[in-house]
Amino acid sequence: METFLVPPRWLFCRIETDEGTVGWGEPVVEGRAEVVRAAVDVLAEYLVGQDPLRIQDHWQVMTKGGFYRGGPVLSSAVAGVDQALWDIAGKTYGAPVHALLGGPVRDRVRVYAWVGGDEPDRLTEEVAAQVEAGFTAVKMNAAGRTSPISSPAETAAVVERVVAARAVLGPHRDVAVDFHGRFSPAGARRVLSELAPLHPLFVEEPLLPEHGHLLAGLVESSPVPIATGERLYGRAEFLPALAAGIAVAQPDLSHAGGISEVHRIASLADTYGAQLAPHCPLGPIALAASLQVAFCTPNFLIQEQSRGLHYNKDADLLSYVVDTEPFRFVDGHAVRTDLPGLGVTVDENAVRAADRTGHAWRNPVWRHDDGSFAEW
Ligand SMILES: [Mg+2]
Repeated sequence: METFLVPPRWLFCRIETDEGTVGWGEPVVEGRAEVVRAAVDVLAEYLVGQDPLRIQDHWQVMTKGGFYRGGPVLSSAVAGVDQALWDIAGKTYGAPVHALLGGPVRDRVRVYAWVGGDEPDRLTEEVAAQVEAGFTAVKMNAAGRTSPISSPAETAAVVERVVAARAVLGPHRDVAVDFHGRFSPAGARRVLSELAPLHPLFVEEPLLPEHGHLLAGLVESSPVPIATGERLYGRAEFLPALAAGIAVAQPDLSHAGGISEVHRIASLADTYGAQLAPHCPLGPIALAASLQVAFCTPNFLIQEQSRGLHYNKDADLLSYVVDTEPFRFVDGHAVRTDLPGLGVTVDENAVRAADRTGHAWRNPVWRHDDGSFAEW
């Protein structure tokens, strides 16, 4: 088992079996990649010498065998290893992962494109470019650094940008709006009511994860579908959010225990009538894992992907793959392939070369005008 710290802010894991089968995964917490790398090294102490095809058993030992459980670092380490083990299983059985999980329920997967960044100003041109590229949905941040309870001018700026996006998109395409936990609960409620007439596909992370106990009240008061989940790390953490009535569950295949656990979260969401829209601002392996789940999940809605994402400088989705075809989006959709495993061919030379440079990506730390900490 090896790990590779590769720009822009990712960590890849490579597992080679004694029969020469290679599986790839992406165990990472953005901004804490080196910490997850150390966690993977500890998991490797147990895994090396084991049968790689006993994924369910390894998942139990990796998540529960250390007594202390959960959290972003451990769950992301397990997630990336789990992806690599599914890749090995698919290559061993000569089947795509979605076939091993019950077979496909769709032929293509709707994906959305990012627009606007953190300080959206050139929004109209960016939305037009994505429509021109064939995308049927875009996602934007509601605001950059903002007051917890926004002023009339701040609220108006949020609404104006969504109005501008909607004007380009028309009524047959979608815009989703990411609040990124930047508003207080009261601020979120105010902005949500203003956005409702613009019919967003969903509003994402209107509350911080630690305010989950307020989610039911917010859902109750909002005509806009509520999405959350990129900072929830397993099905036990999704359960209260689903019971609160969220419309869209957004587990990250590289944070929430990998393919094994996100497959289970999807089933749990289905029992609450919620749709799955996995978070994925990451690299090609995490996206390939997400697509495998999307192909076999009945209650799947839409997939995030990182091409053109403003956080990712120096390298992007296609920098580390030999075959770009699985990531060629047609009419805003990823088309199903029957390639074995995750269906991604990693450019190992590019990965090894990138790891020699590495990266030290960190989240920006934002401050309000009075010098106090601001949510990013
Ligand atoms: Mg988000």
